[in-house]
Amino acid sequence: MSRFWSRLTHELRPYVPGEQPRMADLVKLNTNESPFGPSPRALQAIRFEAADTLRLYPDPQATALRTALAAYHRVRPEQVFVGNGSDEVLAHAFAALLKHEAPLLFPDITYSFYPVYCRLFGISYETVPLDKAMQIRVADYRRRAGAIILANPNAPTGIALSRSEIVALLEDHPDVPVVVDEAYVDFGAETAIPLVASHRNLLVVQTMSKSRALAGLRVGFAIGDSDLIEALTRVKDSFNSYPLGRPAQAGAIAALEDEAYFQQSRVRVIEGRERLTRGLKQAGFEVLPSQANFVFARHPAHDGAALAAALRQQAVIVRHFGAARISDHLRITVGTDEQTDRLLSALSRILG
Ligand SMILES: *Cc1c(COP(=O)(O)O)cnc(C)c1O
Repeated sequence: MSRFWSRLTHELRPYVPGEQPRMADLVKLNTNESPFGPSPRALQAIRFEAADTLRLYPDPQATALRTALAAYHRVRPEQVFVGNGSDEVLAHAFAALLKHEAPLLFPDITYSFYPVYCRLFGISYETVPLDKAMQIRVADYRRRAGAIILANPNAPTGIALSRSEIVALLEDHPDVPVVVDEAYVDFGAETAIPLVASHRNLLVVQTMSKSRALAGLRVGFAIGDSDLIEALTRVKDSFNSYPLGRPAQAGAIAALEDEAYFQQSRVRVIEGRERLTRGLKQAGFEVLPSQANFVFARHPAHDGAALAAALRQQAVIVRHFGAARISDHLRITVGTDEQTDRLLSALSRILG
């Protein structure tokens, strides 16, 4: 608190990211990073950009990257926006598209950055409860809405909606912007990108942080009608013209070109998720059906916060959220098989 702060700053409730501790031999399963590392071709492209050309500003439109993303996802470059991580893309979407007279709708349990952006941009919102199985029911969104944002798969549950459920949502709301945050879509869910051609109100947001193991590079993107993309670009050019540096643009293009590496690491994460799920169920956990690179699990006889603290004592870090309805759950990132084994043996020591 300071008398130098603006009123807005006093009223902010910032998002708290998962911690990045520096402990030796840590099993870090708290921020949904990839355990496998980026494509070697991406690393090579990034190293190549560590050159004299860094004295020059990068392409403010990231034309080469947007063109590569457009080809990959079978859309036009004018339908692609890129930003410094999908968090920045989402922030621009909130400012450009989600503030209206009627409230923005999103689930009561979802990515906890959404209400943070609402406060920052003065957006009124209403939350729509997940059902008892912790699923989004699109029929529950049939009410007055200025806009809608969903994470699909949802976070932190990992549960995905099918493309036909997204179609139903879009058909219920043809006249308001609908943002689908697909941070985890590559781990088994259906992307809504093919619906962009027929739905001018749909914006799909994805990231290279999770399935392409480039969280440290900060590259996110959105695909939607060129009219929506122009709105994002107007906000971006009123904020920071150069969100992506040369290494980020080059690394992201090279990652997209390495399809074989992408498919291989995606499949390894999916297999690791099934292995982790089996191990947790054997240890007595209830595990929600995840299509993401993490699982959301609770033990019927043990408190979530206490379990997270006990795991930390054994140098295993998972994510626990204090919010009502989910405070008994743990969100556990899919690691390597070795990391999963260390988690499971720590749990068996704790559970006795
Ligand atoms: C991780 C995550 C993001 C943000 O990822 P970036 O690293 O900023 O691209 C966005 N939405 C959800 C639901 C996430 O879990």
